[in-house]
Amino acid sequence: MSFLLPKVGDQPLTLGIMGGTFDPIHIGHLVTAEEARQQFKLDHVVFMPAGVTPHKEMEKVTAGEHRYLMAMLAVIDNPYFTVSRMELDRTEPSYTIDTVRRFLKFYENKVDLYFITGADAILDIITWKDYEELLETCSFIAASRPGYSFSKMKVILGPAFNEIIKKVYLLEIPAMAISSTFIRRRVAEGKTVKYLTPEHVEQYIYKNRLYTR
Ligand code: ATP
Ligand code: MG
Repeated sequence: MSFLLPKVGDQPLTLGIMGGTFDPIHIGHLVTAEEARQQFKLDHVVFMPAGVTPHKEMEKVTAGEHRYLMAMLAVIDNPYFTVSRMELDRTEPSYTIDTVRRFLKFYENKVDLYFITGADAILDIITWKDYEELLETCSFIAASRPGYSFSKMKVILGPAFNEIIKKVYLLEIPAMAISSTFIRRRVAEGKTVKYLTPEHVEQYIYKNRLYTR
């Protein structure tokens, strides 16, 4: 597996995994990961750009190599952040449960895994492959996101909510109504995205003419 993954010391590692399309990565992702790292005392956060994802129509998604490089540029100044190519390099669909199993194997189970998501992603967790095993093998951190309140989550998830919430920690982060969709749209319209994403990511977008129609 990736040589970039944090090494195991004497203590079991506490690792955050932040999965996403990251098309492109933005400050919403970075603030969420950093807040989760501090509040949950994570040794490290691994950003995991999705490869072939079962949830998105891949033909509309920017090439994995671009999304990977933008994520790398975004984490370069944070010693606790890394990016993994694990899902990108797979040809079959990347399900979270498979990634979690691979991490557990790599660390010979000497790892505490926290999967970091936005509150919107928790809403469809019951549709994820083997989600019950997923909830048993790793914890979830659900960050607040404008438009997705936790009380609404309870209504939408219905009876499954009580089971899910036992393994899901709620994380309040400074609200940022920002998404990759919003950034892509702004670039296409010729509007500035300065401060919405790190400067090097912004430069990368222009240099490679991403998101222009
Ligand atoms: P898109 O608009 O393309 O769906 P996105 O901004 O939602 O992009 P994703 O790559 O889909 O980004 O999201 C990766 C993870 O980050 C998801 O769990 C998502 O909920 C979370 N996330 C994204 N933006 C925010 C934000 N502003 N605040 C909190 N969580 C966020
Ligand atoms: Mg999204």
